Amino acid sequence: MRSPLKEYKMKTIELANSLGDSHVLSHTDMDLLALALELKSEGWRPKIVTDDYSMQNISNHMKIDFIPLATLGINYLVKWIRYCPACYKKYNNNFKSKICSICGTKLKRKPEKKNRVKKVIKKRRVKSLLKKNEKSDQK
Ligand SMILES: [Zn+2]
Repeated sequence: MRSPLKEYKMKTIELANSLGDSHVLSHTDMDLLALALELKSEGWRPKIVTDDYSMQNISNHMKIDFIPLATLGINYLVKWIRYCPACYKKYNNNFKSKICSICGTKLKRKPEKKNRVKKVIKKRRVKSLLKKNEKSDQK
């Protein structure tokens, strides 16, 4: 996982403070939120997967999508990439046209990266979900 810029960390901490959520969030939580905010400012549409109410609350205020952890059991931070299915040139979301500038094919979108995010989770229900997943990962 790449580390977020200080600017976005500060914004996240500020927001968490103003929402009264800062005391329940770990550094990892804060970094994840800051990184999502940073990606969003770059034109990506990051999604945070979490069951943590504070994380969801802050994501909401940042207008960042989140998926409840219970549906997947793991934390992902997805970064979307747009690409041309014909010549495979990659474009970021700031690229205005929907058409490849090289060959004129309509662009498609796919998740570029799925960073698994290690997270300290206090809720036991979620903890057991995570354990199940770790086991099924080890083949
Ligand atoms: Zn192309």
